Amino acid sequence: MLTLDFHPTGRHFLQIPGPSPVPDRVLRAMSLPTIDHRGPEFAGMGLKVLADMQKVFQTRQPVMIYPASGTGAWEAALVNTLSAGDHVLMYETGHFAALWNKLAERLGLKTEVISSPGPDAWRQGVRADLIEERLKADAQHRIKAVCVVHNETSTGVTSNIAAVRKAIDAAKHPALLLVDTISGLGAADYRHDEWGVDVSISGSQKGLMLPPGIGMNAISARAIAASKQATLPKAFWAWDEMIEMNKTGYWPTTPNTNLLYALSEACDLLLAHGLDVVFARHQRWAEGVRAAVRAWGLQIQCADPSVYSPILTGVMTPEGVDADAVRKIILERFDCSLGTGLGRIKGKMFRIGHLGDTNDLTLLAAVAGCEMGLKLAGVKLAGSGVQAAMDHFASHPAAVPLRKAA
Ligand code: PLP
Repeated sequence: MLTLDFHPTGRHFLQIPGPSPVPDRVLRAMSLPTIDHRGPEFAGMGLKVLADMQKVFQTRQPVMIYPASGTGAWEAALVNTLSAGDHVLMYETGHFAALWNKLAERLGLKTEVISSPGPDAWRQGVRADLIEERLKADAQHRIKAVCVVHNETSTGVTSNIAAVRKAIDAAKHPALLLVDTISGLGAADYRHDEWGVDVSISGSQKGLMLPPGIGMNAISARAIAASKQATLPKAFWAWDEMIEMNKTGYWPTTPNTNLLYALSEACDLLLAHGLDVVFARHQRWAEGVRAAVRAWGLQIQCADPSVYSPILTGVMTPEGVDADAVRKIILERFDCSLGTGLGRIKGKMFRIGHLGDTNDLTLLAAVAGCEMGLKLAGVKLAGSGVQAAMDHFASHPAAVPLRKAA
């Protein structure tokens, strides 16, 4: 039975950094009849979404689409390219990087974790110079892969992947570059080919504006060559059969047909707007939300403005204020979901997602919910974040107008 609790009036404000709000058009596409995944119509759609995803990853190389969450796509990247006991360099920028490391350990890889020095490691991006230094010290090339998270969803930090590629090249090291862009793709600029990434990992429920349920790998020729030597057990995740079947628009196992309809629709939206317009839109939203946080007098979790995330903003609550208690007030009073602090920053910060099917007014309302909730929780604010965000949006019109009035 449906209860009022589950379906209150108005739209729920899903301001977590994924799953993100799904456009109605995309939801409607999912309601088309499920078709035979071995039948003639399916192949056309299969080839279309594979080609669309190449455009979104900015690659001409194969893209794998799995019925899986992002974690599955993490696993696929590792089991296809590595062997038990292989040495892997993992850069810890936050909770998701730490979880990926845990997964790699469970697969039998020998991981070495590096991070930015000091207590603020989870407030910084990847330091490419530290990667370069470590790789230069590995004269015997024991390190087989470098793993980094592009957009660290737990902190709101977007690392510079081109700089990591440069660091690997400067060290003249053959390690593969594996990048998690689960929350970056489709919202922040991401260039698989240009940045020389060997495996890019993504998921459906963030910038792509889909419900959860699709995990992806974009791969390189070097990654394919590595997959022929790699001996970690792989069956469901194996790229070889997938690449073969995908050539004709089909999958080796049953793909999630209705989510592929949604993916096709979402790619139409992203590509019709143009990726550059989409990236600029997220940057602008992010700046508006950060203006609000600054006006409140609160700290942004990301301490380095050069790596602010266009996708989410982490808001640190003052000493002694439980961020989850603030989130609870905002959810119960204003029906707005915010991201919880994860791992070692739990209770110390909350996350505002500014991605997916959103706009200035939705974000202003979300900021208003935060402002009211913070005050109700007893936080003394320096000023009005709502006013600051309004000022930002009003004085920075989007490059492309949302609509043309008659
Ligand atoms: N990596 C990042 C950066 C994420 O944001 C997430 C999920 O939020 C994951 C990995 C894990 O993906 P999933 O929860 O879809 O398995």
